[in-house]
Amino acid sequence: MPDFPNETENHMDLLSDPTLLRQHCQKWHSQGLSVALVPTMGFLHAGHTSLLDHARTRADKLVLSIFVNPTQFGPNEDLDRYPRDLPRDLELARAHGVDLAFTPEPQAMYQPDHATWVDVPELGQGLCGASRPGHFRGVCTVVTKLFGLVRPDVAVFGQKDWQQLAILRRMTRDLDLGVDIVGRPIFREADGLALSSRNVYLTPEERAQAPAIHEGLALVQGAVRAGERDVERLGLMFRAHLAEKLTGASVDYADFVHPVAMSPVACVEAPTLFAVAVFLSRVRLIDNILLEV
Ligand code: AMP
Repeated sequence: MPDFPNETENHMDLLSDPTLLRQHCQKWHSQGLSVALVPTMGFLHAGHTSLLDHARTRADKLVLSIFVNPTQFGPNEDLDRYPRDLPRDLELARAHGVDLAFTPEPQAMYQPDHATWVDVPELGQGLCGASRPGHFRGVCTVVTKLFGLVRPDVAVFGQKDWQQLAILRRMTRDLDLGVDIVGRPIFREADGLALSSRNVYLTPEERAQAPAIHEGLALVQGAVRAGERDVERLGLMFRAHLAEKLTGASVDYADFVHPVAMSPVACVEAPTLFAVAVFLSRVRLIDNILLEV
């Protein structure tokens, strides 16, 4: 008799209890099966499913977590209005070959007296870490917990959140977590806008203008290719493009950093990450490009 009598080609297990998740994954490991994990906050889009499709090729079993993690949101951020559509997410997960979807409630993930935090402050000082104090501590803590529950062989993340990826790589290495961290390219709409669950908040006018962010990144890449090295001038070029094309937007940051250390650079002499965050009214969108010299 098979271990999972209800397991068929398209079968997907759905669990919200961390202990059951652990048991399920332990069973797979004891059978010699490898496990890939894709952590998300749900409201899945083609960026997320591109991660699932890649992860599907990397292990025998694929676990998707859908958890709007409260500890990575600041007090004035959009935790309460973060978009959710679990039925649709589960349909997409099934269609992309997920074996197990994990959808815990916050109380199941955090005990009332939860007191342990994982932080990589050195890499989280700038960019989103500066604008969102405590954000990466929340991310690192929940990802460590998910790694502990699933014990994945491989975990797949998007380069759209480049700083997050750099921090999680460093955390995994420093703490010997033994997970292969894979970063996947930014998935974009045809007009260049990076897919994001938060894009649904945009008004039609904002949505129409939002590709200006990606255009601005491309403009900077073009200038670097043409020989410009000075990050001050490159940054101004980006800001001027946004001011012209994205009326009403405000730049939260537009920074040039070392792609691994996340430290600021003054000159684009080696591959450099240009990362930006832009507010369109209350919606904060991020994007980035790895500048090739
Ligand atoms: P989130 O649900 O926003 O926490 O994202 C879950 C994962 O999907 C993270 O690893 C993100 O970097 C990744 N992701 C989000 N948007 C995109 C995108 N447009 N392209 C590729 N990966 C993405």
